Amino acid sequence: MLFQALGEMGLARPSQIHTPLPVPRRWLEQVHQRPYHEAFARGTLDRQAQRRIGLPATTPLVQRTWLAVGGTLLTARLALEYGVACHLAGGTHHAFPAYGSGFCIFNDIAVTAKVLLDEGRLKRLMIVDLDVHQGDATAVIFANDSRVFTFSAHAASNFPSRKQSSDCDLSFEDGVEDHAYLALVGEELPLLLERFQPELVLYNAGVDPHREDRLGRLCLSDLGLLQRDHLVFDACLRRQIPVATVIGGGYDALEPLAKRHALVFRAAADQARLHGL
Ligand SMILES: [Zn+2]
Repeated sequence: MLFQALGEMGLARPSQIHTPLPVPRRWLEQVHQRPYHEAFARGTLDRQAQRRIGLPATTPLVQRTWLAVGGTLLTARLALEYGVACHLAGGTHHAFPAYGSGFCIFNDIAVTAKVLLDEGRLKRLMIVDLDVHQGDATAVIFANDSRVFTFSAHAASNFPSRKQSSDCDLSFEDGVEDHAYLALVGEELPLLLERFQPELVLYNAGVDPHREDRLGRLCLSDLGLLQRDHLVFDACLRRQIPVATVIGGGYDALEPLAKRHALVFRAAADQARLHGL
């Protein structure tokens, strides 16, 4: 439905579409331990591990999960080539090396960051996670890795109840609206970019801070989300930092949700044009 929405908005010309391959096992294992990913793929995770993920391990889900991680890596490579690239999936930031949680199985952004750094393609990258839930697993995975700066802005009272320490955490009270949210993120992000000087930003553009989201607890409007995405692209692109986006979370009826996830593609297209990409 998101792909269809992008087509209707004129944001998905055939020449702009790239199709990923499932992530190779050796790359997945830069983050995830073999006993975990094998048990997931074989459907032999114990009941507690499955309950923690919250999704049934069906064959289509297994295929989708490997493909989504491959997609995030492809998106990052395309961003390095073109300046901006957007993934139609990804953002599963509650997946830890040995277990999944909160609808997240593999940590696509963490795998992507590790692969690019270990290839020597990059020396420093920043993860900007504006999904309404804290990027807890991502924070833990890179806690002792000075090559990766983790920034998470999230609702204080939301899942996960046990927060981890990102390199920078902004936590919002329930019900925060556009103006207060944008003021704080808009003040913090440019400072972080100046200080850390990343060569790539991996942006989790979760739409669950939206006021109609079933799990979000914040109160952003459509326009607020769009302005947020513009703000991220503009802050990065004016500093010649490429941006790769993933869709992150969003919980609502599918039709409004697909439109909401399309906002980051709209912002990407406009900002790419504004910055001459
Ligand atoms: Zn979320």
